Parts: sequence; structure tokens; C-alpha cells
Amino acid sequence: MLKARLYDISIFLTALAIAISSKHILVGQPNFIKALIVFWVFSSLYYHLRVFSKNGNTNFEYGISYCLSFVLFTGPLGLFIFETIYRFTVYAYRKWTRTADPSEFTDTLYNIGAFVITNSVAYFLYLQLNSSFDKIPYGFWILMFLLTCIASLLSGTFLVTAFYIMGDLKTLKEGVDFIFKSRSLLDFGKVAITNGLLFMFLKEGRWQILISLFILNYVVSRSFFSKAQSVQHKLERDKFEQMAYTDFLTGVYNRTFMDKKMAELNQTEEQIGIVVCDIDKFKRINDNYNHAVGDKVIQHFASTLKSYLDENDYLFRSGGEEFTLCLRNRDYDQTRNLVNEILKGVENNAVNVEYQGEHVSISYTASFGLYYYKVNDQISIEKAYIMADQLLFRSKDLGKNRASMVNGLAKAVVV
Ligand code: GH3
Ligand code: MG
Ligand code: MG
Repeated sequence: MLKARLYDISIFLTALAIAISSKHILVGQPNFIKALIVFWVFSSLYYHLRVFSKNGNTNFEYGISYCLSFVLFTGPLGLFIFETIYRFTVYAYRKWTRTADPSEFTDTLYNIGAFVITNSVAYFLYLQLNSSFDKIPYGFWILMFLLTCIASLLSGTFLVTAFYIMGDLKTLKEGVDFIFKSRSLLDFGKVAITNGLLFMFLKEGRWQILISLFILNYVVSRSFFSKAQSVQHKLERDKFEQMAYTDFLTGVYNRTFMDKKMAELNQTEEQIGIVVCDIDKFKRINDNYNHAVGDKVIQHFASTLKSYLDENDYLFRSGGEEFTLCLRNRDYDQTRNLVNEILKGVENNAVNVEYQGEHVSISYTASFGLYYYKVNDQISIEKAYIMADQLLFRSKDLGKNRASMVNGLAKAVVV
């Protein structure tokens, strides 16, 4: 940790040396104060739109930086003063809201230092290259883009060095990957154009347009930020919903989802086969082996059932080793054939498990009850489920490993 603190401080001191050696601020005091206030207000406003990221133990944030235009307008000393005021505003805010990291003070020094050094390099390059680029069409913008890339890659290098010192990065390749993958050309373009325009307006003293540009930038980012947040919230909600409706052991839908889906299916007019099935003599498997082996058999049963279904069918784990199927888009004969196929499939498809260090193959059977009917035809789907459950009982009574079926449309009983 001490090394990391020393690194932060040395970055800061280097920036201080650059600032002092540049001796004076390039613009008169009134313009400097004005620019300082406007940039400070908008950078602070922008602070809550930054993107958080984490690499190992190190937290860091991305936000649009207005440093390039500021350094081109005021020089390295001006930028150093701005960065110090702005970064300590953030420092105070984070202390006040109790969101500060334990190393917040040296992190603040690092941020001031890194931004001043990288943008000062860009400033010196600008002084060297400006006249040459001025001769080509759009030369100013190309140069802004180049400077943005260089400043960004340089600050990436500083960050990677910090990660390396913290032990969050091990190899050079990880570092190079981080620098290039965490930034995009679009980001560079956004920063280059924003800073190019800001610099132009600063030079010409167009304060109203300058402030409008800041506001536009803020409003656009804010609206995208809100959208991104609501998409994120929706993703999280969907994930929680999926977890709430999924059976943990088998990954198929659970009883809660079955009740919800049945309520929805009740509103349709479709012909449907409700199947309730249950593993035969399952207690024996639990007793002869153990609960974990029992779990494997339940999982195997679920995936066997699933392998016979189309995407519009539903499979629910409705109890311990009891599952319910909603077979859709089939006539009665097709549904009956499918249930018979599943029955045979379960019987002929043993599960291989490890038990006491050995591979064992366990065969098992299941019993089925099918009630086929047209939804909304007098009886609710919940009632149909009860009928299918009773048919399952009949299969158990009749000796198990069989299916009892009723075609509710024909009112004919088939066993
Ligand atoms: P039947 O042929 O009549 O269906 O007999 P069965 O032995 O399968 O009897 P029953 O359905 O009454 O017993 C189910 C057993 O399944 C009882 C319960 O301990 C066990 N069980 C329920 N949930 C789980 C589970 O998640 N994992 C395991 N391993 N066992 C479970
Ligand atoms: Mg059973
Ligand atoms: Mg049971």
C-alpha cells in the first residue's frame, strides 16, 4: 500500500513541477476566473454521470474530461489550479456523503497529477503541431482527436501502473488489454469534439455559446444515463423474476410460475393436454442410495421430460418428484402418442451417478395422468390439473409405469 501511496504522491509532485515551470497562466485574470467558475460548475454537475468500474481491488470512474480545452486556454499552471479546486470539491463531497475510500486523499492527489500531466503533454504537443495541422483541411479537429487519443492512452498507462503496483494486474498483456479495451474511438471522438468546441468558444470569448454547449452536453448525457439506468433496472428485475420462477434443483419453472401461467392460459381458448407425472417408488432411491443421488434422479427426470417438449410447451416442477406439463398445439392423438413416448423414454433412459466412489446406473419409471380438453370450456385449467392429478393416482393404483388419459373433448376414457 505504501508503494501505491508513494506512486500517487510522485504523480502529483511531477504535475506540480510542470505547473510551476510553466510559470504563468496564458490568459488575463478575469477570463481565467470566469473559465474556472464555469468549468468547475459543469465538471461538478457532471460528476454524478460518471461510470464506475472496478479492476481487482481498485475502483475507478470514467467521466468526460474538459481538461484538454482548459489546458489549451490557460496552460499547465491554469489546469493545475482548476484540477486542484475541482478534485478537492469531489473529495469534500465524498467525505460529506461518506462515500470516500480510505485512500481518498492520495487518490485525489493522483487524479490531479494524472490529469495535469497527460493534458500538459497534449498542450506541449499542440504548441508544436498546431501550425502544421492548420494547413490541412479540418486540421484542428484531427489534431484534437490525436491529442485526445494520446492523453487518454497516457492516462491509461498511469492507471495500469497503479493497478500493477496494487497487484491487481500481473502481466503486460493484461495491462495493454485494459488500456485498449476500456476506451473506444467513439469516446475519443466525443471528448475531442467537445474540447475542440469549448476551446474555440473560450478563445473567442463566446461565453453564452460555451455555457449552452455545456448544458447540451449535460442534458444529452443525463437522458442517456437515465435510459441506461432504466435498462439496467429492467435487466435486474427480469433476473430476479427469473430466479423467483425457477426451480433451483432442476432449472425448470417452479410451482409459483405454474400458477401464474395457468391463470394466463385460462384466458385462452386453446386445446391443451395437462399432464401430471411422478417418479415411481422414488423413496426407495433416496433410501437405497442417498438424498444427493435422489436429487440427480430428479434432475435427470426433468431433463428427460424437457427433451420431448416444443418451445411452446411448458414444464413445471409441481412437487418433490412430481412434474406438470402443458402440451400445446397438438390434437388429442398427437398428445397421447407423445405421453406414451415420454413414458417409454423415461423407462429406457437410466441415469448414471456416482455413489460411494463408483459409477452406478439407476433405472427408474414414472406414472402419468393426462387430461386433454379445450380451455374455457366450462372448466378452468386448475380443475383440469386436478383431473390430471387424479389420473396419475389411477396409474399408480393400476401398478405404476403407465399413463391414464382422458380426452375431455370426446368425454371418452382411455386407459
Ligand atoms: P410412488 O411410486 O407412489 O410415487 O412412491 P414414492 O416413493 O415416489 O412416494 P412419494 O411420492 O410419496 O415420495 C416422494 C419422496 O420424495 C418423499 C420425499 O422425501 C422425496 N423428495 C421430495 N423432494 C425431494 C428432493 O428435492 N430431493 C430428494 N432427494 N428427495 C425428495
Ligand atoms: Mg413418487
Ligand atoms: Mg410424489
